[in-house]
Amino acid sequence: MKNIVVVGGGAGGLEFVTQLAEAVKKNDDVSITLIDKLAAHMWKPLLHEVALGTLNIEQEQTNYFLHAKKHGYCFSQAELISIDRESKTIQIKTQHRTASNEWVSRTEQPAYDVLVLALGAKSNDFGTLGVREHCYFLDDIEQAQKIHQDMMLAYQNSQQLQHEPVVNIAIIGGGATGVEFAAELAQVKHTLFDYGFEKIRPENINIHVIEGGSRVLNALSEQVSERAETVLSQLKVNLLTNHRVKSIEHQKIHFADGTTLHADCIIWAAGVKAPKVLEQLNGFEKDGIHRLKVHATLQTFTDPHIFAFGDCAHCQLDSKENPLGARAQVASQQAEFLVNAVLCHLKGKTIPMFKFNEKGTLVSLSESEAVGQILGNTLVQGPSARIMYRSLYRIHQSKIHGVGKTLLITAKDAFARQVNPRIKFF
Ligand SMILES: Cc1cc2nc3c(=O)[nH]c(=O)nc-3n(C[C@H](O)[C@H](O)[C@H](O)COP(=O)(O)OP(=O)(O)OC[C@H]3O[C@@H](n4cnc5c(N)ncnc54)[C@H](O)[C@@H]3O)c2cc1C
Repeated sequence: MKNIVVVGGGAGGLEFVTQLAEAVKKNDDVSITLIDKLAAHMWKPLLHEVALGTLNIEQEQTNYFLHAKKHGYCFSQAELISIDRESKTIQIKTQHRTASNEWVSRTEQPAYDVLVLALGAKSNDFGTLGVREHCYFLDDIEQAQKIHQDMMLAYQNSQQLQHEPVVNIAIIGGGATGVEFAAELAQVKHTLFDYGFEKIRPENINIHVIEGGSRVLNALSEQVSERAETVLSQLKVNLLTNHRVKSIEHQKIHFADGTTLHADCIIWAAGVKAPKVLEQLNGFEKDGIHRLKVHATLQTFTDPHIFAFGDCAHCQLDSKENPLGARAQVASQQAEFLVNAVLCHLKGKTIPMFKFNEKGTLVSLSESEAVGQILGNTLVQGPSARIMYRSLYRIHQSKIHGVGKTLLITAKDAFARQVNPRIKFF
């Protein structure tokens, strides 16, 4: 029996496991185990909607235990601690509830023949003073829910004030995450009055997007940036480009040019690095942000039995080009490629080389507007771009649930939109 152990059931990991389980369905010689520190999967590009309460998290999560049972693989809720390449085992930490209702942690050492790491990434504060202490992050569900709960509490508390409060919300990082968060918030703020927050007037909520470069979405074409900046300006979002953050204090942002900005709430969305467990892992070749370096086969430089992909891997397919970015599209294509690659490896066959097919990038600006570039540099915008943007999530769902169930979920969501409030409370 060959053990394939996959750590991380995110955008890439869960697609990979589902497709792999389907491919080895009738093969009793292969066992697949997925390990994730959480009990349920959530597609990360939706996290800003969770943070702003426009998406009901309970309805978007996929329980790993149920998914594993249905698709024929094993699931273990545990956190990866370390890897012992000599004994081909990993050390994981699990949490158990005792009879007296207390949580205790236990370590286990499952063995692997092939280990696949799909651990994702987390925010990179680039060592900027005060970021960890004073900023919110959008790395996982817990953090997104914390933003949501704190915002709701702030709205509630403001109702007790004698005056109408002025609120400043700053988003640091003008990449896709920062832009999407700002655009969604700019629309949410117009609905708060309807929910009984009478003291919160939209004109009193100031949203600032802070970007060190000369334009937002600077990984995309200038046309895309211009369109995004136009929409954000129409939404009255204050764009502070060419503003390098030097340090953060409680409700205060200090810039490199000596100026400061007061902000009641600061969201840090300015770049990523590999999770801590990879930072602490010795003996592996890594890049400057601790991602594991992989060949075009997605095998790590260090060990052919260990594959890595998605946000936690540094995959440079051509020395003249940049390594592949931390994007759902990359993780998804690599997941599909890996099914055959891992099976080839188990059979001792030559593993093919991964080729990335750039399909474009889309950034959501509202419920009916998105902007991006597809087929090379072709600009897409407006409602059609928004439909394409939304379809990316449906494609992910169809890969983990199948087409039939995805159609049912899509229909359910369409009904829910008609009957549910736009914003979820607590
Ligand atoms: C707010 C936000 C918006 C985004 N928007 C877009 C977008 O519009 N388009 C786009 O292409 N990309 C977007 N991205 C990036 C995209 O989400 C990632 O590129 C994608 O999720 C990467 O997939 P992955 O499988 O590598 O990692 P992830 O999806 O991050 O999954 C990692 C998994 O590993 C688990 N894990 C981590 N550490 C451990 C551990 N030690 N032990 C066990 N389990 C562990 C986590 O719980 C998680 O389930 C966005 C990201 C964020 C945060």
